[in-house]
Amino acid sequence: MILYLINPDNPLVSMVKSREYRWNRYSVWKPLGLLVIAGLTPPEWTVTIVDENIKRRDYAFMPTPDLVGITAFTSQANRAYVIAREFRERNVPVIMGGIHATMCSNEALERVDTVVTGEAESIWPKLLDDFRQGSMKPLYAGTHLNLKKVPTARHDLLPDGYFFGSIQTSRGCPLSCSFCSVTAFNGGKYRRRPIENVIDEFRLIKEKNILIVDDNFIGISKEHLAYVKDLLRALIKARLHKKWVAQVTINMADDEELLTLAAQAGCEGVFIGFESTSNEGLEEIDKRYIMKKGRNMKDSIRRIHRHGIIVVGSFIIGLDIDKAEIGHDIADKARQYDIDALNVMFLTPLPGTKLWDKMFSENRIIADNFPHDWQYYTLTFPVASCMHLSWYEMLKEKNICYRTFYSYPGIIGRVLHMLLNRHSPLHLLVINLWYRKNTLHVDRQAYTNYDLKRGHALSQPVHVKLKREVA
Ligand code: SF4
Repeated sequence: MILYLINPDNPLVSMVKSREYRWNRYSVWKPLGLLVIAGLTPPEWTVTIVDENIKRRDYAFMPTPDLVGITAFTSQANRAYVIAREFRERNVPVIMGGIHATMCSNEALERVDTVVTGEAESIWPKLLDDFRQGSMKPLYAGTHLNLKKVPTARHDLLPDGYFFGSIQTSRGCPLSCSFCSVTAFNGGKYRRRPIENVIDEFRLIKEKNILIVDDNFIGISKEHLAYVKDLLRALIKARLHKKWVAQVTINMADDEELLTLAAQAGCEGVFIGFESTSNEGLEEIDKRYIMKKGRNMKDSIRRIHRHGIIVVGSFIIGLDIDKAEIGHDIADKARQYDIDALNVMFLTPLPGTKLWDKMFSENRIIADNFPHDWQYYTLTFPVASCMHLSWYEMLKEKNICYRTFYSYPGIIGRVLHMLLNRHSPLHLLVINLWYRKNTLHVDRQAYTNYDLKRGHALSQPVHVKLKREVA
């Protein structure tokens, strides 16, 4: 029996569309969830994983499968439904799982044969059994799995071409920030994989650079930190010579032993969500956890830098407190903090978040022609109205922010700073040039693809204003 597991084209990170922007290969992540599902699939199935972000396939010219499984983040949902229609027209049953199908299960149920909500691994063997017996149900609800039971991901099923391999060591987050759906999807309890399983899987990944996809690699308690330190010791002992990056909180800077172990275990960089330049902003999005009284961000980041670890900082534009000049404010803060690369996102009400409920009840969602408009929910595109900034002003502020931070003098300054600290500036330079090139590209697309050609998605006054200002 033939099973296709498909990761649809993601408008944000598709290498297919961005061949001309070759450096985008740094933003294509492996579809790890599908690799794990493949690991749970019995040997009588021949599994093919299709990642449309690395290569679009013409399904009409591929052997007709017995079953298709599709995963999707919200921004991929529209494409997922197009793929589902294509296979269903050929009488191939289609299953859809992942975070979007979980949060919008009714919408998905209208377009596929079976929807899996939650963590699919917990019900995948049962679902395949039901399929074999001709009794596959329309809806399966996955539960939060004991991660001891998660098999090794089938990294061997994907072709070369990725810059980063990927791996997961933990799931869940108790912090429940208003814009984030991790707590709703993976639960509020921090669950970890056995260290030996993680090390074994590290060994199987052929890419030299690895992304640890955990939403917060270091966790939030002493117990979490103890696990991470043990994992890092095991990595050092295994001598795998891999380089890796991970998402963490700024609290990593407070633990010198953790920093030392991370650097020795191959940590090249960390991604930290600062989100707002002010405590009011952090309170607005329920991210009080990182508001440590009296923290000097510059000193904290210097402590991370001392270990040769690059810091990519992320901020959000579109909070209710954000006003004109927020672009400059963020660029200034990022420079004051001495972060190495800056990532700016728009506040995006993703389905299943507290933010979605708020924005929906306040009638502030402006990209609302669903499912078509899900493709704009990439976090790089304003899809909801902001209290003090128009749609166009949000784009403008982001542009100002990036143009300020990624000016050539700014980039050169950061490279020199790295050299002075006797660390290689190569990665920093690549990341900075990548952001400079790609963010300008995204902004251009925002004007041409979204509004000027398809103005009906925006409410009329905003559209008219945008047209006038762009013209
Ligand atoms: S943004 Fe990070 S800290 Fe907040 S809920 Fe999501 S995973 Fe947890």
